[in-house]
Amino acid sequence: MLEFQTSKYRMLQLYVAVKDIAPEAIDTIILSHAHSDHYGGIFDEEDGFSFPNARYVLSRVEWTFWMDQPDLSSLALPELLKQRTVQLAQNCLTRLQPKLRLIEDGEVIFPGIAAIPAKGETPGHSAFLVCSKGDAMLVVGDAWPHYRLTPEHPDWLTAFDLDPEQTVRTRRTLLDRAAEEKLLVLAYHFPWPSLGRILRRGANWSWEPVEYKWPGHP
Ligand SMILES: [Zn+2]
Repeated sequence: MLEFQTSKYRMLQLYVAVKDIAPEAIDTIILSHAHSDHYGGIFDEEDGFSFPNARYVLSRVEWTFWMDQPDLSSLALPELLKQRTVQLAQNCLTRLQPKLRLIEDGEVIFPGIAAIPAKGETPGHSAFLVCSKGDAMLVVGDAWPHYRLTPEHPDWLTAFDLDPEQTVRTRRTLLDRAAEEKLLVLAYHFPWPSLGRILRRGANWSWEPVEYKWPGHP
């Protein structure tokens, strides 16, 4: 399973190369939501598909929101940025449509990979629980935007949160679950490699990153 963040696309390419996985071998890409920093890498520099054989998975709620005149009027962002966000999402989703599988809240996408509703920033934003051989990893997408501010101050919002109250509920629910179940977490906006665990700290939480070494480095 892969999810993309434009700013880390180079690293993703590197990861794919290190692991010796051909782009043609990627058959499914699961998208957390339709913000361009989370799907940018699916198109290459010539605007073709980076992974030509991949099909895509996205929440039906997310699809409907972006394709049906989305209302971003509550966001304190420049009008041009809002228009551009909508335009990019609609262009992307229109191109993906023939390759797209829309899923319902909580749907099991494949055995071992389940969607978890994580709404707030966008109406159909999803997190994912990936289970394999007794291990589990929680993929949070944009539900947690910052490695210190989110666990320590989960009620501090970003300018992109369309439903502030739901955003905070989602953050707290996922933080609680990650800490309780001691889940490995993949949080794209956290420092590379964006992997770690959540610890309970009184009423709030803290982030414990996993130690990461580049392959071949001591
Ligand atoms: Zn986002």
